[in-house]
Amino acid sequence: SNNILEVKDLKVSFHTYAGEVHAVRGVTFNLKKGEALAIVGESGCGKSVTSQAIMRLIATPPGEIKSTSSILFDGKTDIVKLSDKEMENLRGSEMGMIFQDPMTSLNPTMKIGKQIAEGLIKHQGLSKQAARERAIEMLRLVGIPNPEGRVDQYPHQFSGGMRQRVMIAIALACNPKLLIADEPTTALDVTIQAQILDLMRDLQEKTGASIILITHDLGVVADLAQRVVVMYAGKVVEQGSVDDIFYNPQHPYTWGLMRSVPRLDNDEKQELIPIEGTPPDLIAPPKGCAFAARCPYAMEVCLEADPDITKINSGHSASCWLLHPNAPKVERPVEVGG
Ligand code: SF4
Ligand code: MG
Repeated sequence: SNNILEVKDLKVSFHTYAGEVHAVRGVTFNLKKGEALAIVGESGCGKSVTSQAIMRLIATPPGEIKSTSSILFDGKTDIVKLSDKEMENLRGSEMGMIFQDPMTSLNPTMKIGKQIAEGLIKHQGLSKQAARERAIEMLRLVGIPNPEGRVDQYPHQFSGGMRQRVMIAIALACNPKLLIADEPTTALDVTIQAQILDLMRDLQEKTGASIILITHDLGVVADLAQRVVVMYAGKVVEQGSVDDIFYNPQHPYTWGLMRSVPRLDNDEKQELIPIEGTPPDLIAPPKGCAFAARCPYAMEVCLEADPDITKINSGHSASCWLLHPNAPKVERPVEVGG
């Protein structure tokens, strides 16, 4: 298969006292080998939960990945059906993860070198000495000066940007086929952010790893991704190439997102213009389009039934009643292509 990942009808719920929260409601997308795919949307849209489900990092209970979901890894392994032990092995040998805040994912009491070496010894069967050498090599690869000296230091001895580089070194040490980065640069200042993105792009070219990038920052998307999945209220509302999404978006929610695209080549971090209103309650999601309450184009039908997926081109699709052949033509509110 050409795809490293095939996510099909992924459904994830959380069981709470208030009721079942339908956090991810039937998400389907593919990730090609060597491709960087961004999942974008507001907080609570299900983008992080989707990535956690792919890594099987959803605590169950209270979480639950519905058994009708499937997440096919490298054309053969269904992640949903693996035992915990099998999943741990797959994670340790084929997947790398980078999170927003390296301080919470690094062990503050363990030397950096040991943290990189741990997985190599456990999952790749490297000797202590070989793993240490590989750790030094990884620190050099991610651009940490004097790696021979730094390998025996602790996380607090590194700056925020350098810690994020260490996280990337850990994530890439096992030569993963899939790298999942959840808001990898959000906690960093703009200059460091640009350096980390450069590094990730560079490493992706070198290693050929596929990347899933979770972000709310469309500037980061433009910088790193080739494809984009737009999520709203636990569903994919639009997906396509970066060009499709930036220059020919079809869904009113994507139009809203595109109203302000922060650019990394500006010194100032521009604020996104928020879309008015709030997402629906995912304990009792609306029966029609989940975006209807906030959508300036909502029609009667939008409240009655969820729109089907409409194909725009081979890689571009969106779910909106405006794409129905009988729908009224509307004027797009945004200047796209700017
Ligand atoms: Fe708006 Fe209707 Fe399209 Fe939903 S289906 S985004 S409510 S126009
Ligand atoms: Mg998140």
